[in-house]
Amino acid sequence: MDQWEEKLSCALACTRCDASLKPKDQRILSVYDHEPICLSCKAEEEKRDDYGSVSREAIGSCMAETELLYSDPKGYCFHHFYPFTCK
Ligand SMILES: [Zn+2]
Repeated sequence: MDQWEEKLSCALACTRCDASLKPKDQRILSVYDHEPICLSCKAEEEKRDDYGSVSREAIGSCMAETELLYSDPKGYCFHHFYPFTCK
Protein backbone atom coordinates (compact mmCIF):
# COMPACT_ATOMS: atom_id res chain seq x y z
CA MET A 1 0.00 0.00 0.00
CA ASP A 2 1.29 3.45 -0.87
CA GLN A 3 2.23 5.76 1.98
CA TRP A 4 -0.35 8.36 1.13
CA GLU A 5 -3.04 5.72 1.09
CA GLU A 6 -2.14 4.50 4.53
CA LYS A 7 -2.17 8.00 5.91
CA LEU A 8 -5.13 9.43 4.05
CA SER A 9 -7.52 6.77 2.92
CA CYS A 10 -8.00 5.17 6.32
CA ALA A 11 -8.51 8.36 8.31
CA LEU A 12 -10.98 7.69 11.12
CA ALA A 13 -12.58 11.09 10.97
CA CYS A 14 -13.16 13.94 8.57
CA THR A 15 -10.31 16.41 9.06
CA ARG A 16 -12.71 19.31 8.43
CA CYS A 17 -15.78 18.62 10.59
CA ASP A 18 -14.60 15.67 12.71
CA ALA A 19 -17.45 13.44 11.58
CA SER A 20 -16.35 9.88 12.16
CA LEU A 21 -15.54 7.82 9.09
CA LYS A 22 -15.96 4.07 9.13
CA PRO A 23 -13.79 2.03 6.78
CA LYS A 24 -16.63 1.71 4.33
CA ASP A 25 -17.76 5.34 4.48
CA GLN A 26 -16.85 7.30 1.41
CA ARG A 27 -14.36 10.14 1.76
CA ILE A 28 -12.46 12.31 -0.68
CA LEU A 29 -9.29 14.36 -0.60
CA SER A 30 -9.65 18.12 -0.30
CA VAL A 31 -8.17 20.07 -3.20
CA TYR A 32 -7.33 22.81 -0.69
CA ASP A 33 -5.27 20.94 1.89
CA HIS A 34 -5.15 17.37 0.50
CA GLU A 35 -6.62 15.95 3.68
CA PRO A 36 -9.41 13.37 3.69
CA ILE A 37 -12.82 14.94 4.21
CA CYS A 38 -16.39 13.66 4.22
CA LEU A 39 -18.63 14.14 1.23
CA SER A 40 -20.74 16.88 2.80
CA CYS A 41 -17.58 18.90 3.45
CA LYS A 42 -16.58 18.28 -0.17
CA ALA A 43 -19.96 19.62 -1.31
CA GLU A 44 -19.28 22.76 0.76
CA GLU A 45 -15.83 23.03 -0.78
CA GLU A 46 -17.29 22.91 -4.27
CA LYS A 47 -19.44 25.94 -3.48
CA ARG A 48 -16.42 28.13 -2.77
CA ASP A 49 -15.78 30.87 -5.34
CA ASP A 50 -12.21 29.78 -5.88
CA TYR A 51 -12.96 26.08 -6.19
CA GLY A 52 -12.58 26.03 -9.98
CA SER A 53 -9.14 27.60 -9.99
CA VAL A 54 -7.94 25.75 -6.88
CA SER A 55 -9.02 22.38 -8.25
CA ARG A 56 -7.25 23.06 -11.55
CA GLU A 57 -4.14 24.00 -9.61
CA ALA A 58 -4.47 20.85 -7.50
CA ILE A 59 -4.47 18.70 -10.60
CA GLY A 60 -1.30 20.36 -11.86
CA SER A 61 0.57 20.30 -8.57
CA CYS A 62 -0.46 16.80 -7.58
CA MET A 63 0.79 15.55 -10.93
CA ALA A 64 4.14 17.24 -10.34
CA GLU A 65 4.42 16.21 -6.69
CA THR A 66 3.29 12.67 -7.14
CA GLU A 67 5.99 12.07 -9.70
CA LEU A 68 8.46 12.72 -6.93
CA LEU A 69 6.67 11.44 -3.87
CA TYR A 70 4.28 8.71 -4.82
CA SER A 71 4.46 5.59 -6.86
CA ASP A 72 0.90 5.89 -8.08
CA PRO A 73 0.31 9.49 -9.17
CA LYS A 74 -2.84 8.59 -11.03
CA GLY A 75 -4.44 7.17 -7.91
CA TYR A 76 -3.47 10.12 -5.77
CA CYS A 77 -4.91 12.68 -8.19
CA PHE A 78 -7.94 10.55 -8.79
CA HIS A 79 -8.81 10.52 -5.09
CA HIS A 80 -9.19 14.29 -5.09
CA PHE A 81 -12.11 14.02 -7.46
CA TYR A 82 -13.76 10.67 -6.86
CA PRO A 83 -15.00 9.46 -3.48
CA PHE A 84 -13.30 6.34 -2.13
CA THR A 85 -13.42 4.11 0.90
CA CYS A 86 -10.77 2.71 3.19
CA LYS A 87 -9.61 -0.53 1.62
ZN1 LIG B 1 -16.71 16.60 7.13
